[in-house]
Amino acid sequence: MSFTLHGLPVSGGIAIGQAHLISQATLEVSHLVIAPRMVEKEVARFEAAMQRVRAEFATMKGSLEKSPADMRAFIDLHRMILEDPELSEVPKQIIRERRCNAEWAIVQQMQVLVEQFEHVEDQYLRERSYDVRQAVERVVRELSEHPDHVSKLKGVKGENVIVVAHDLSPADVMAFKDHNFASFVTDVGGATSHTAILARGMGIPAVLGLHNARALIRDKETLIVDGTRGVVIVNPDRRILEEYELRRSQYEIEKSKLKLLKTARATTLDKIKIDLLANIEEPEDVEAVIECGADGVGLFRTEFIFLGRGDMPSEDEQFEAYRKAVKGMEGRPLTIRTFDLGNDKQMVSEDLAEERRRDNPALGLRSIRLSLAEPKVFQAQLRAILRASKFGKVKILVPMLSHAFQVDQTLAAVEQAKSSLRGQKIAFDENIEVGGMIEVPAAALAIGIFLRRLDFLSIGTNDLIQYTLAIDRTDEQVANLYDPLHPAVLMLLSHIIGSAEKAGVPVSMCGEMAGDPMFTRLLLGMGLRQFSMFPAQIPAVKQRIKQSDISEIEPIVRKIIRLEESAKIEEQIERLNAWQQ
Ligand code: PEP
Ligand code: MG
Repeated sequence: MSFTLHGLPVSGGIAIGQAHLISQATLEVSHLVIAPRMVEKEVARFEAAMQRVRAEFATMKGSLEKSPADMRAFIDLHRMILEDPELSEVPKQIIRERRCNAEWAIVQQMQVLVEQFEHVEDQYLRERSYDVRQAVERVVRELSEHPDHVSKLKGVKGENVIVVAHDLSPADVMAFKDHNFASFVTDVGGATSHTAILARGMGIPAVLGLHNARALIRDKETLIVDGTRGVVIVNPDRRILEEYELRRSQYEIEKSKLKLLKTARATTLDKIKIDLLANIEEPEDVEAVIECGADGVGLFRTEFIFLGRGDMPSEDEQFEAYRKAVKGMEGRPLTIRTFDLGNDKQMVSEDLAEERRRDNPALGLRSIRLSLAEPKVFQAQLRAILRASKFGKVKILVPMLSHAFQVDQTLAAVEQAKSSLRGQKIAFDENIEVGGMIEVPAAALAIGIFLRRLDFLSIGTNDLIQYTLAIDRTDEQVANLYDPLHPAVLMLLSHIIGSAEKAGVPVSMCGEMAGDPMFTRLLLGMGLRQFSMFPAQIPAVKQRIKQSDISEIEPIVRKIIRLEESAKIEEQIERLNAWQQ
């Protein structure tokens, strides 16, 4: 049966392929070693998860009162399995004796039990090993806020595979990089979540926020994903399939035409040169930066290199990664952003994650706040960046600033890292520039604080919009309220850009707005001259720049940003974009 699902169009293009469903939990858990002082906390975490599963069983049973007896018996069986001391007590001993994480402890114990079951003669009892697995899977799901379910994709490769999941974390999507999948679709997630951003970076079509895709789509069903419109067609008929095959090839032709712009300069009709920079996540991405003819890297999201592993990277490991990236830049500038961990980018580290995790991470100890709270981790990163600065043009970019003291403390930390390197006679760029991201409304409003202390600024529209409009960028339920054209957002952008211009401080934009040609003329009209985006987005933005005359755009943009309703603003921007200059 053919049917269509609608979600958020987060990464354009068309993919046609076979569904590959991934489950929400996995028994392939990481093994972490716990510090002695954390052991009892880990036991408590295990007990709390068991308690939540018990409560979940009770609720399920209540809601199944009128369902067949089989169903209720199945819940009772799982409940009994988990009540058995073999699973409710022994994992606690394992945590204490082996100082390991709770997920690993329960999975180890499960394997012992499953093995015992598999040796019994009675077929009925043998099959109960499945129930043990399922019951344990439930506990593991409770324990891991970020289930490593994508590891199940090991070995799955292919350009016609479309991944269907309830949710994917940024770390999951990073793991896709080696698989070459055609596309992915999920039930949850917002358009500027890091999951969506990564899809755009990889240049693969993706639709998020489909609500029920994971439940309605079956493995191996044929899917069409239209990432531009946010549509997923399941089991399309021949006519629809042919139509989309045609659309897909037209899209590819357009893309390759734009690639011809690689060596063209990004200069407006009135001869103003615009800097087009790239956003990257890994040193390997530098190849694409050179390939698309970018002027440099405006945002290297360093946290992605180390996401999803069990510990913090050492200074040397970081240094190797940064050096590789800067060498690949062949003299072009590389702006390295210090770790923006926390929120949706969690590191599974005993020291950082467990103690620091809270219910409202976007407003919590995230980003520079976390770096300043963890001076050792911050020093290791700053030293690694400084050491890499000997090999090319490196700049430091600091995320999520809101207070003057944060800038002062960051600059003091940079000084400390410099002086320790000097003491060890390790070379670095003494004049390295330090810039800040403007992505918190407070920083945008009190922009003078940052203009007076920093060498350059970069506007992070993804967070700036999230915090200005109080919209969680990862939540599809409020995605309709996430509005880059809200008058408040435009006021802030125009204020930041205008103030930086007056102060003579370079300002770029590295949030998603910079890479969307829909906003290019608007931003040019506000005075923006540096744009940073994924390499794949550069050609389309460059084309728009080459067709624009800033002196004609400016007065129109001045009028647009005085309008009061997003819908009117959007209409005027569409007219501005349609205008052939
Ligand atoms: C932003 O917030 O706009 C930004 C570029 O940073 P990130 O998306 O990594 O939070
Ligand atoms: Mg941000």
